[in-house]
Amino acid sequence: MAFRLYNTLTKQKENFEPVTPGKVGIYLCGPTVYKESHIGHVIGPVIFDALKKYLTYKGYQVKFVVNITDVDDKIINEAKRLGVPMKDLAEKLTAAYFDALDQLGVNSIDEFPRATEYIPKMIELIQRLAEKDAAYATETGDVYFDVTKCSNYGKLSHRKSDDQLEGSRELAGGGKRNAADFALWKAAGADEVGWDSPWSRGRPGWHIECSVMSMALLGETYDIHGGGMDLIFPHHENEIAQSETATCKPYVKYWLHNGLTRIQTKVAGGEWKNEKMSKSLGNIRPISELLEAYPPAVIRYFLLSTHYRRPIDFSDQALTDAQKGMMNIYRLLDRVNRLNGEDVYRYPCDVNSLTELAHTDEDHALREVLTAGQLKFLETLDDDFNTAGALAALHDLATAVNRYIDRRQLETKPDSDARTLALQAGRMITTLGRILGVFTEPLKSADSDDELTEKLMALLIDLRAQVRKDKNFALADAIRDKLTALGIALEDRPEGTIWVKM
Ligand SMILES: [Zn+2]
Repeated sequence: MAFRLYNTLTKQKENFEPVTPGKVGIYLCGPTVYKESHIGHVIGPVIFDALKKYLTYKGYQVKFVVNITDVDDKIINEAKRLGVPMKDLAEKLTAAYFDALDQLGVNSIDEFPRATEYIPKMIELIQRLAEKDAAYATETGDVYFDVTKCSNYGKLSHRKSDDQLEGSRELAGGGKRNAADFALWKAAGADEVGWDSPWSRGRPGWHIECSVMSMALLGETYDIHGGGMDLIFPHHENEIAQSETATCKPYVKYWLHNGLTRIQTKVAGGEWKNEKMSKSLGNIRPISELLEAYPPAVIRYFLLSTHYRRPIDFSDQALTDAQKGMMNIYRLLDRVNRLNGEDVYRYPCDVNSLTELAHTDEDHALREVLTAGQLKFLETLDDDFNTAGALAALHDLATAVNRYIDRRQLETKPDSDARTLALQAGRMITTLGRILGVFTEPLKSADSDDELTEKLMALLIDLRAQVRKDKNFALADAIRDKLTALGIALEDRPEGTIWVKM
């Protein structure tokens, strides 16, 4: 099956064919660094990092760019409020953003252009537009884009001109020719940050920076532009208008938009209700706080366990559920490790490298399940990058391998060929997971007391084993029941007792 992506521009799934065969350029709108990043700021990077990993797996050479908006009215106002220079505030928040991405395994971004580094190029593009009379300056030194000079304005958001007026942030007045015209350049006040330009000392509008930085790094026509659905209009519509009017070339081939975060809150009666995440509702939590409360791998997995175009219903319960789901796979991987005394994460494995040794019906059946599972995983991703479906395929594989280990009684019978097949099956799961940047290593807890917990649990398990040996079953059961009450389950297995958070 060909790799297909849903293109917002054409409103349908299309076969993916890059502008230059073998190469892919991806641009994602990054954060405006004026407040600490929250979950909404990392959805795009996690999704597009996974997409880049998948495209790389498919053999493409991918360049992935995420911008940092480090000059903007919001940053200026926040810096003023805090009494710090804009640059210092932007740098501090950019560093925190990078740290969050790093923890979340977002490690494939090639360039992070900053708006303030591209001001001369932005002025150049505005000049090109002015030469075509598509950009005009007002008496106050602001420069606007004239939307009537772009014949197909509205083609991305599929809006008619009346809707455009309604959605436009700025109203007519202040020398604008049309209400929907948008700012390319804003004159700065005397005490404000500004750069010299032919029109005024000022700063760029937001839309122009993405056109300029993406075209500078990926070419005037490139493959994939991503962002949240809230950016379709006006931001991306305006990017298209100004870029295509200036270059007379198609700007972006595939527009991909991810769903937004909804917060789930409990309302009277114990019901859950979805709310939009917003500052006014006070339901935004900084990503740094979440990264302290949950293992970063769980947050990444959670964000990929919904199809990227759907809204993400975010709550503590949803993250806890994601962790529980992940634990099913981690436990299987641990189980395979124990059987073989090997590291399931270390070597890759796919269906082509499965051992030829198969003695029983179960062996043959597992090989078939593995072959079908790998195909399903990849085909699901080929269908509009459905990571949710692909992760479900991994769960099916883990269930099949667990069943295989049970049926072949591998924990009590040292059948080395069968144990090898189980190890290879586990390695297939980590190999497929790695394509999306999940199950790349054992789960690291966000909890700094993790090591101590492990030691205390080992101590309790030993004590319980001892009292059972002494036939004090009442005390042994009491230990287990009290742990259950704390949300910890003990599982007695032939190779020993393990504990899991419920
Ligand atoms: Zn942008």
